[in-house]
Amino acid sequence: MSTETANWCDRCGEAAATGSHDACRAAREFEPPRFCASCRRRMKVQVLPSGWSAVCVAHGETTSAG
Ligand SMILES: [Zn+2]
Ligand SMILES: [Zn+2]
Repeated sequence: MSTETANWCDRCGEAAATGSHDACRAAREFEPPRFCASCRRRMKVQVLPSGWSAVCVAHGETTSAG
């Protein structure tokens, strides 16, 4: 099993394999994640002029850059 697999929806925090997350995916095109997809911790989100950054205390920073 890969640790890269997203276990949790990074927007609604529910199990990624359960239910439909189409709306979450659509929203994530424009919004930062709220939950870490790996551990479901709430991420510390900062909205920046250029995008956003979200930090999980266990898994580090994700940004919209790139
Ligand atoms: Zn979701
Ligand atoms: Zn995490």
